[in-house]
Amino acid sequence: MSSPTPGIVYLVGGGPGDPGLLTLRGLACLRRADVVVFDRLIGRELLAHAPAQAELIDVGKESDRHPVPQDRINGLLVDRAVAGKVVVRLKGGDPFVFGRGGEEAEALVAAGIPFEIVPGVTSAIAAPAYAGIPVTHRTVACSAAIITGHRSESGQAEECSWLSAAGADTLVLLMGVANLPRIVAQLVAAGRPAETPVAVIQRGTFADQRVVVGTLADIADRVVTEGIRSPATIVVGEVVRLRERLRWFDRPDRRPLAGLRVLNTRPRHEAAELTARLAALGAEVVELPCMEMAPPDFGPLDAVLQRLAAFDWLVFTSVNTVTFTLDRLFALGYDARALGGVRLAAVGPATAQALHSYGLRADFTPSRFTAADLATEMGDVAGARVLLPRSNLIPPAPLPSQGRGEMLPLLSLRRGEKGDGGMREVRPDLADALNARGAIVETVIAYTVRPATAEPGALAALLGGQIQVVTFASPSALDGLATLLGDRTLADVLTPLCVACIGPTTADAARDLGVRVDLTPEEHTVAGMVDELVRWRQGK
Ligand code: SAH
Repeated sequence: MSSPTPGIVYLVGGGPGDPGLLTLRGLACLRRADVVVFDRLIGRELLAHAPAQAELIDVGKESDRHPVPQDRINGLLVDRAVAGKVVVRLKGGDPFVFGRGGEEAEALVAAGIPFEIVPGVTSAIAAPAYAGIPVTHRTVACSAAIITGHRSESGQAEECSWLSAAGADTLVLLMGVANLPRIVAQLVAAGRPAETPVAVIQRGTFADQRVVVGTLADIADRVVTEGIRSPATIVVGEVVRLRERLRWFDRPDRRPLAGLRVLNTRPRHEAAELTARLAALGAEVVELPCMEMAPPDFGPLDAVLQRLAAFDWLVFTSVNTVTFTLDRLFALGYDARALGGVRLAAVGPATAQALHSYGLRADFTPSRFTAADLATEMGDVAGARVLLPRSNLIPPAPLPSQGRGEMLPLLSLRRGEKGDGGMREVRPDLADALNARGAIVETVIAYTVRPATAEPGALAALLGGQIQVVTFASPSALDGLATLLGDRTLADVLTPLCVACIGPTTADAARDLGVRVDLTPEEHTVAGMVDELVRWRQGK
């Protein structure tokens, strides 16, 4: 048997953190990787570019928290390539800037393995750039040295070499935070004025980048006071002063929600978008899921799914109705053919997208996402048999102006009525509208909504006065929070805080419960609510 065609190893620089700083060449290599061997500092988003079946090997740390030794990494690269694999060795920043990429390339040469180097954006230049500090600048600095601040076992030799570079106008030190007091002392002893400006950039280019500026005299203390930790890049030299004018990425006006702690009350599996949008604007987000979805009593749902062929239309009013209904249908042993004779309606784009993820296309989506529009635009439904899956308390009552942030689930309530479990009863708008047009509507409970179990840390943060803004994306979140609060009333707990509601239905529900509502966006989406919060903050 002939041996497999030899593979290849790409030593790829993954950039400093911001996933947009991967090169096109690096992306192309990742996309065709059989194996990705990656380091601790690699942004996880980059790994998502590798094919789903690629083998991902983390050599950043082993179970005992020590990194995998270099010779084992070299051996791994050689073994996989000998087996014919396309191997991407993905490294933080640039592979040849303190990345031990040179050693890995030497091992590949020794083993006769083909390889290519894909340079990356090094943190030595990118972290200062994201802090608004050019490492060279006309009339200010005409040279820059990249230096390791790590004291290697080679001791003496290492120190000599770094001080010889200390004559450059700008010094960029990597791996130096732990040794900062020694580094500044040696620089001052070597003749750098104590007032030379210094910046330390923690997690440069990441959303949570932090920058501390001082001088050789005080930077070591400042770094301790501010709690700056590795990975961080140290910049020494007059160029640091340019940050005052050139600061951009971490400018306060780009992070209008910095310093705010915001409670996200969405159900766990729907919390991500709101959290991401808030965090991108600098807010600290505390997730306290207030309700959760659970399967219903399957009896009625199963019975209706067994006679799906009797319906003309299956109308989905939320992503949850799609997932719970179809998951159950398939769990019963049916496949997509069971839907063959039934037309599918989706209330909005997110619901249609959910259908699409099951390989199904909606036959109908209304032009505007309201119950009335859905009912009228479906055409002649007189005599049509319509199945309307819903939750135990949530009606098919789509809200106006749902864009991409289509609210899930779609809520409405009948004032003053309490349903089971202290949650609200529903107003069956859509069923009414369809009935009025002569359709024969049957509803079935596809899932239940119930108050979530408390997240002790998040609840303590709310009760301990550590939260400034509470967001609600549905009336059931209010009901769920009321349940979590036990003896304390919502009004009591929320009065000192800013209360943001995604739309008028949720805001009405809040007022019904005695809660003052501070913000309701024009556009009833997660994005709209976040924009409104920014306007509120700026107006303060
Ligand atoms: N090859 C990498 C450097 C590896 S050495 C590159 O070219 O960027 C690891 C050091 O790089 C860290 O100790 C830190 O000093 C620096 N570093 C890596 N990522 C960083 C980041 N996002 N922000 C600031 N410094 C970073």
